[in-house]
Amino acid sequence: MLAPPTIAAMKLTVLGGSAASPNTGMGCAGFLVETGETTLVLDLGPGTLPELRRHTNFRTLDAVVISHMHVDHVLDLLALRHALAYNPVPALAPIPVWLPPGGIDILETATAPFDACDEPGRFAATVRVAEYAPAQPLRIGDAVVTFAPAVHYVPAWAMRVHASGVADLGYTGDTGPRANLARFFAGVEILIAEATLLDGGDDLAAERGSLTAAEAGALAEAAGARALVLTHMWEERGIAACARQAATTFGGQIEIAIPGFTVSW
Ligand SMILES: [Zn+2]
Repeated sequence: MLAPPTIAAMKLTVLGGSAASPNTGMGCAGFLVETGETTLVLDLGPGTLPELRRHTNFRTLDAVVISHMHVDHVLDLLALRHALAYNPVPALAPIPVWLPPGGIDILETATAPFDACDEPGRFAATVRVAEYAPAQPLRIGDAVVTFAPAVHYVPAWAMRVHASGVADLGYTGDTGPRANLARFFAGVEILIAEATLLDGGDDLAAERGSLTAAEAGALAEAAGARALVLTHMWEERGIAACARQAATTFGGQIEIAIPGFTVSW
């Protein structure tokens, strides 16, 4: 007898949507992506692990993939290591953590003082850390993550998640407009785009490492995304103002990266 076919689907759950530090009740960058067989997290910034626990078992993630090594995208990796080391319900295996090139040295430097607090290697053994090669697709279960260079203040990578039979998901990570990511994101169902700014200032497109909300909308429009999820925003700048500005350049559905927001397709 034939096994029933796996239903092709992808589900995004937002874990946080704040810019460089958490907004009130909203952690920083973190996105749970579930395909038919695979559970991924893209970035794990401060305040995202508590939200992750609401939606999935943190002990059985198939991978965490990090866009770049800014603290608002990686800090809860440290919390995850301690969760895995001390939680009374143990994990069956280390969690794979994929960092950008150069990320291993940065993470080891950041974690060294905390590693010294317990038996050597205890926390490091909870994860299996490796660096992805951005020019190569990264296959994780039935999902494939591809990368494109962002323009940011440290090396940073935009990501596109593919699983067969379902439209892709795009995530800008942090980037300025000069990255020209429209072709990389062409045809995605959902584009998660950073919208840090309302005013790009005078350095338009030069070396700026963040997008305005209007630029996020324009990117989604040029890519032909069905829906845009705005992220990396300051509450002081006005999240509703970001959404209004993005709507001036994108005609599709606009959502805010509020923790717990989910969309399936
Ligand atoms: Zn950044």
